[in-house]
Amino acid sequence: MQSDLYALGFQGSVATPTSENYEEAIKRQSATAALRPAYVCYPIGPADISLAIKFALTQDPPLEIAVKSGGCHTSTNASTDGGLVVDLALLKGVEVSEDRKTVAFQSGCLWGDVYSELEKHGLKAVGGSTWFVGVGGYMTGGGYSNLSGQFGLAIDNLVSAEIVLADGRIVRCSADDEPDLFWAIRGGGNQFGIVTEFVARTYPIRGPALSGALFYAVTDLKHVLGVLHEFLETQPATTYLCFGFARSPPHFQPSIIAIPYVDGGDSAAAEAFTALFQTKLAPLVSHLASLPSLNTASHAGDALLLDVPPRGVTTAALFSVLYDDVVEWVFNEWLNFTDNEETKRTLALFEFFKRGKVDGVAVGDTAYSVRAPHWYMALGTRHTNPELDKHAEDWADKVTSCVKRQNAERTGQMLPTPANMALGPDYTSTEEVYGENLPRLRKIKAKYDPTKVWRRGWVIEPSL
Ligand SMILES: Cc1cc2nc3c(=O)[nH]c(=O)nc-3n(C[C@H](O)[C@H](O)[C@H](O)COP(=O)(O)OP(=O)(O)OC[C@H]3O[C@@H](n4cnc5c(N)ncnc54)[C@H](O)[C@@H]3O)c2cc1C
Repeated sequence: MQSDLYALGFQGSVATPTSENYEEAIKRQSATAALRPAYVCYPIGPADISLAIKFALTQDPPLEIAVKSGGCHTSTNASTDGGLVVDLALLKGVEVSEDRKTVAFQSGCLWGDVYSELEKHGLKAVGGSTWFVGVGGYMTGGGYSNLSGQFGLAIDNLVSAEIVLADGRIVRCSADDEPDLFWAIRGGGNQFGIVTEFVARTYPIRGPALSGALFYAVTDLKHVLGVLHEFLETQPATTYLCFGFARSPPHFQPSIIAIPYVDGGDSAAAEAFTALFQTKLAPLVSHLASLPSLNTASHAGDALLLDVPPRGVTTAALFSVLYDDVVEWVFNEWLNFTDNEETKRTLALFEFFKRGKVDGVAVGDTAYSVRAPHWYMALGTRHTNPELDKHAEDWADKVTSCVKRQNAERTGQMLPTPANMALGPDYTSTEEVYGENLPRLRKIKAKYDPTKVWRRGWVIEPSL
């Protein structure tokens, strides 16, 4: 009964299957990720989360607990059938420190919430390139950003975090406090507790950013790839490039798409980008614009990402060398998969940032195990008919597995797929997600969650 939770002193709100708002409460960014929990609770602070954990674990039998931040993961990891969901949606605080060097943001924020507060202070932070991605799953997974070429992953800029542990304790971790826990949450996913607040470094906005979208004819793929290689040889650290395939509205014809981000203040990088992608390549359509902040740039993909069919999978494959024949294979796969009404909004995107910062961190310094030089390819499928769920998952698995395998066969490197990018536990093993850091993660799990309270997603077996 939800009244039992209130009797414990819980101050937030609770939805159960008989509540009017229940169907809304269980919604996820993709309907494939929605399950039917017995309780969805909305804590107003960490103390409420401790009470929700206590409540769930003292039921007979104990309730499975799931945690949801932005609800963008397309697996069911952020929900549970018959259990209790801790939905962090009411935890939206964002506060810039007095010295402006850090920002504290609560884990129910979307990146757009963080950027819009930072913008008021003339600041930016290393976060998701799309405004509606939740900070919780993104940060605990690693976090690639438009700023990764300059400042690394989002977790490389994390200073401290507040977490509610499996036993209900509320702790703060950093390089000095609970250092093992701080190590583990930087890539260890949802396996160590519910993060309620992240504190991350900030950077000054130095001028308007260049972003938008450019479209090219698919018959030009070889030529466009040639220019892409030219760009990557000298890619400025201030740039990020999302390059791939989309059928965009209103005509849904297949096209090559490039979504650049050139950070503010680097006019030389903006000129270098436009010289190649605008002048040398002559796009069919160009929507480049000078934008005041990361916040506005985080809307660059809105036309492709919003108002899409309700179901889909988002996943990725990390690779270390860009092979043209692999890109061409992905293109043909994408072309066939999207050649119908249901799946035409599916995207296949290769994402490039200047190497050096992300791979400049040692693999043992955080739980994030991919520190060899790399980029990644992301797939975002979309459809309406639930009967196509398996078809979409199998296709995404086939394409990402092939990209990883080709990379491994040719370079000798089989790169893990981080928790925020892997398809789901049915497709990707815990070993494939955590890579060589798994043994240390198991030891830390034994210390912080020996009875496996956190058992959604890629569950780490505790080991002494
Ligand atoms: C349109 C789109 C754009 C994306 N862009 C990027 C990008 O630029 N860079 C990138 O790296 N990734 C990107 N991603 C992937 C993204 O990082 C993942 O989808 C991530 O899981 C989103 O976080 P969320 O909080 O919205 O997820 P949720 O679905 O809410 O949660 C995902 C997982 O994280 C766990 N979790 C959530 N919050 C917490 C918390 N506070 N404490 C502990 N565990 C928690 C959940 O239990 C669940 O297992 C993108 C995804 C989409 C759909």
